[in-house]
Amino acid sequence: MNASRSNSISQQIKKKASELGFDLCGIAPSHPLPEREKILRDWCKRGMNGGMGYLERSIEKRVNPDFLLPGAKSVIVTGSNYYTSDNQVEKDVPILSRYAFGKDYHDVIIKKLDQIIDFINDRVVEAECLSFVDSEPLLEKAWAVEAGLGWQGRHSIVINDKLGSFFFIGIIILNIELEYDSPYKTNRCGNCRLCIDLCPTGAINEDGTIDARKCIANLTIENRGPIPEEIIPKIGGRVYGCDKCQEVCPWNKKAKSHSTAEFELSEEIRQMKIEEWLNLTRDQFDRIFKNSPVKRRKYEPFMSSVKIASKFIS
Ligand code: SF4
Ligand code: SF4
Repeated sequence: MNASRSNSISQQIKKKASELGFDLCGIAPSHPLPEREKILRDWCKRGMNGGMGYLERSIEKRVNPDFLLPGAKSVIVTGSNYYTSDNQVEKDVPILSRYAFGKDYHDVIIKKLDQIIDFINDRVVEAECLSFVDSEPLLEKAWAVEAGLGWQGRHSIVINDKLGSFFFIGIIILNIELEYDSPYKTNRCGNCRLCIDLCPTGAINEDGTIDARKCIANLTIENRGPIPEEIIPKIGGRVYGCDKCQEVCPWNKKAKSHSTAEFELSEEIRQMKIEEWLNLTRDQFDRIFKNSPVKRRKYEPFMSSVKIASKFIS
């Protein structure tokens, strides 16, 4: 494809992404990321990945889109705001992370990414594309930086200077060349270290990586074993995920609420009293969280987290 055609297609893709409701869209050239590979290897070597042993087994894939789509030339990265000021905190119930308030973001976002793919395939017949949201072994945050969406803050999450950090990252890898954005090279955290100082468990390392063994988000979502005894007193009322490091970040002070109906907290969950959380049956759990990211957690560990969280609720 000649340069002017690829520029024009790139602009059309971004326009389409905006029409579909994506808040951010950037495009990076596909290539390996050796520096990221080194950081990831070192992080795993220090045991910081906790129970996520699968991360060690797929490091090369995570830093090179060519493993996922042979012949990859470009990576489109989208951002979808999920911020809401509705944070449950004053309602004396177990706290869900904002990203888990509504329908499963995988399902919501993949449908829109696939509409972008249809749009591309209608215009470039030779285009092969692979879309995913947090479901393939690729360092999505690193690619968000490569595509110019923002920088990785000290809490490791990508911050966009206008949107803040409460956004989902969506990826399309494709085998055609496009017009590229510049990577976001500047780290704009400056002298701030609020997230490091206010993380309840001290999980944020000085080098901007996270110790998953201490991180409440990992321990209440991914972790398969019990929550370590020394972490329990620091959990607060959190039952699924933790937003603390994002809540204290100055870049989120002006975050605007999203306008995606699917990301809203369901009325049923909003109305649940602490007794209802504590007495949730398996059937109720399956029904209430059927379309929610919370279903990633099994019933037993979820209820164990509810019991722990309830100790912090008056
Ligand atoms: S999610 Fe919570 S526990 Fe994990 S690093 Fe952020 S503030 Fe710390
Ligand atoms: S709280 Fe401060 S140090 Fe942490 S990510 Fe935000 S700006 Fe950076």
